[in-house]
Amino acid sequence: QQEILKVEDLKIHFPVMEGVIFRKQVATVKAVDGVSFSVRRGETLGVVGESGCGKSTTGLALMHMLQATSGRILFEGEEVTPAKLKQFRKRVQMVYQDPYGSLNPRMKVKDIIGEPLEVHGLDKDPEKYQRRIAELLRMVGLLPDMAERYAHEFSGGQRQRIGIARALALEPSVIVCDEPVSALDVSIQAQVINIFKDLQRRLGLTYVFIAHDLAVVRHISDRIAVMYLGRVVEVASRDALYAQPMHPYTQALLSAVPEANVDAESRRQRIVLKGEIPSPLRVPPGCRFHTRCPAAMERCKAEDPALQESPGGHAVACHLYA
Ligand code: SF4
Ligand code: MG
Repeated sequence: QQEILKVEDLKIHFPVMEGVIFRKQVATVKAVDGVSFSVRRGETLGVVGESGCGKSTTGLALMHMLQATSGRILFEGEEVTPAKLKQFRKRVQMVYQDPYGSLNPRMKVKDIIGEPLEVHGLDKDPEKYQRRIAELLRMVGLLPDMAERYAHEFSGGQRQRIGIARALALEPSVIVCDEPVSALDVSIQAQVINIFKDLQRRLGLTYVFIAHDLAVVRHISDRIAVMYLGRVVEVASRDALYAQPMHPYTQALLSAVPEANVDAESRRQRIVLKGEIPSPLRVPPGCRFHTRCPAAMERCKAEDPALQESPGGHAVACHLYA
């Protein structure tokens, strides 16, 4: 299967400055600190990790909305240069976490959805434009006459559908979804996930689906990447990850998903990790998970484990498998 996106050793570091007249850098936030993964055409790659792990920052970098400190992001095998950015924007779109904050409540739905069309000059024929807006609304299960209403008139779930319709306007190949259901009621989450799945089937879309827990991504992902403190610590097919999580962090995350415990015979015990996630200002040396890992060994304090891929495509960054 062909790779549509490829991330190579991506780092996104933010300087922390101090001083008013003589400003100097006093620290570095390593939000993304050596992330590599690829996304295959037509698949959904789930990207999972707790808050502060760098998943949203990685998502923004994939959109070229944030500058990488180092590393590369390839789209269809090529780097996105400034000259190619406008074309890239038609092909890769984003759906945001907060359907309240990301849609202007004082804009009509038709203008929200039509904005990308206007930006790209595709709004010249009024009749075609109207038809496209109606079609986009129908694609996400909304009624065409909703086009004349304002965003604030809609519920969270409906707003997220509007956000999806806007992302679809330019017929993208890839949609980066940053926790698109996290702000929604649990009863609405499944509906919105089903819309994503249905659109993928019909349009052959590729998704990068960011979430903070393994429960949400289970029903939509083909493969899953688990992130911890700015790194990908494990990547596997969805089935392999749920049946045989290798990284101690993934094992802990999975033990917190009640549904996953039912069919995983060997691991019913809830693994409670000690301590808090360290700040990305102070990334621990060696394996960055060693301060919380129940299986940590002496070498983990000094040696940083690389992400190693096994023949089945299951990759893990942990000295237990060296
Ligand atoms: Fe735990 Fe060591 Fe593996 Fe890190 S390398 S996850 S500390 S066992
Ligand atoms: Mg986030």
